[in-house]
Amino acid sequence: MKMAIDTIQIDGAQGEGGGQILRSALTLSMITGTPFRIEGIRAKRRKPGLLRQHLTAIEAAATISGARVEGAAPASQSLVLMPGAIRGGDYRFAIGTAGSCTLVLQTVLPALWFADAPSTLTVSGGTHNPAAPPADFLIRAWLPLMRRMGAVAELELLRHGFYPAGGGEVRARVAPSRLVPLELCQRGELRAMRAQAIVAAVPGNVARRELEVVARGFSGIDTEIRELPQREGPGNALLLEFEQQQVTELFTGFGQRGVSAETVADRVVNAARAWLASGAAAGEHLADQLVLPLALAGGGRFTTCAQSSHLATNVAVIERFLPVTALIEPAGAGWEVSIANRD
Ligand code: ATP
Repeated sequence: MKMAIDTIQIDGAQGEGGGQILRSALTLSMITGTPFRIEGIRAKRRKPGLLRQHLTAIEAAATISGARVEGAAPASQSLVLMPGAIRGGDYRFAIGTAGSCTLVLQTVLPALWFADAPSTLTVSGGTHNPAAPPADFLIRAWLPLMRRMGAVAELELLRHGFYPAGGGEVRARVAPSRLVPLELCQRGELRAMRAQAIVAAVPGNVARRELEVVARGFSGIDTEIRELPQREGPGNALLLEFEQQQVTELFTGFGQRGVSAETVADRVVNAARAWLASGAAAGEHLADQLVLPLALAGGGRFTTCAQSSHLATNVAVIERFLPVTALIEPAGAGWEVSIANRD
């Protein structure tokens, strides 16, 4: 245990004030071997403090890095973590609710690139939750970029789990990796446009109506209805994928009681249109999920259509742990984010 190193103090209420501040601190604490204390966890959320998803991320971080932890209890707003060495292994974590598996996975996956041996990592819970990356997003948008940066990782969606039932599962295979900077300022030519409407224990006409809206919005798009077994539901997700030469972007909408299929589809179409019109490479969500790996690689650059508070807040947390600075500047109809070593 590296107790001689000063503990980093993190304010969980800064900026976005959500779970990402904690998750990024966990990842960076493990990788740098630096203890941290966080106060005001998720202070700006309706139900502040630790939920099952965050407790599982803490348990996962503590297990793989042999960490000592104080304050990991439901609704707790403060936590201390003192990491040890990151060990590769065969890990399995269950959230036990529909809390997002993908967010737990994204917390520990980068740490396993810095482990002493390969790992498998299985997480069960929600795979398709509002306000979290769906498993498809990690598989098709985020992970290919990580591989381009030298990361060795594969990810499989074993079973869908929708909010609020949960019951899904994802599995990653990871090997120690050396990350190199990423340059992603152009998205490159369009290679394919696909839309998939997923339904589980939800009438098939919901998927048909969503795809009709998408087909009106993007002529020539490939559309597919994916009906899952009833037991994986109830749930509905609409995935809109743009495979470009340099990047694949994925926009997602979730069916919700009281919201029409047309409205769900309209929102996804509008999000995709905003990204397309900006000319930028990364969409809003991909942007805030790229900065941590880029900082670990010691630098890189990308363009994005939006400067979100998730992005600014994540950058602020990263700058506390790593000797990097991030610059976010207007570029064309969007923004350019560049990360460089401070020294
Ligand atoms: P909370 O603070 O309520 O616990 P949270 O823990 O889920 O929220 P946030 O801090 O809000 O965490 O971070 C959510 C993450 O999920 C962000 O990285 C965001 O970009 C990502 N995300 C949200 N919606 C999508 C989506 N549709 N596609 C891809 N990523 C998404």
